[in-house]
Amino acid sequence: VRAGAPIRLELRLESVVEGVLVSGTATAPVTGECSRCLGPVDTEVEVDLQELYLYGPPGRRGVPAADDDDLPQVVDDLIDLEPAVRDAVVLSLPVSPRCRDDCPGLCVECGARLADVGPRHTHAQSDPRWDGLRGLMENKENE
Ligand SMILES: [Zn+2]
Ligand SMILES: [Zn+2]
Repeated sequence: VRAGAPIRLELRLESVVEGVLVSGTATAPVTGECSRCLGPVDTEVEVDLQELYLYGPPGRRGVPAADDDDLPQVVDDLIDLEPAVRDAVVLSLPVSPRCRDDCPGLCVECGARLADVGPRHTHAQSDPRWDGLRGLMENKENE
């Protein structure tokens, strides 16, 4: 997700006894490099969000409650959505992004993108790992 890229939020904020329950979805544009062919990946991810923002103790709204330090708080009547959105989006990103689901990758011989050169792309040269065997065959023919 490029810095400054717009992230679309569709959220429902509900007042509950302990605080404010936020639920909905975040949609973010995602760019990167295909793990198979190194071509550009340009897509977006949509993630579900649900996070409870606690009120501080009565009379101390905005002051984090000591035993709930790890949970997000309503501070000065505001909630900070960024950590929740960031965590949800980061977790949804693919470890091996692909430009398309059936990306054929690169030719192992010349590195051409198989999506560009077509499925019948081949090379006449034989695999060098067979050179030793070919030598044996030729010796036999000479005998
Ligand atoms: Zn690809
Ligand atoms: Zn090739």
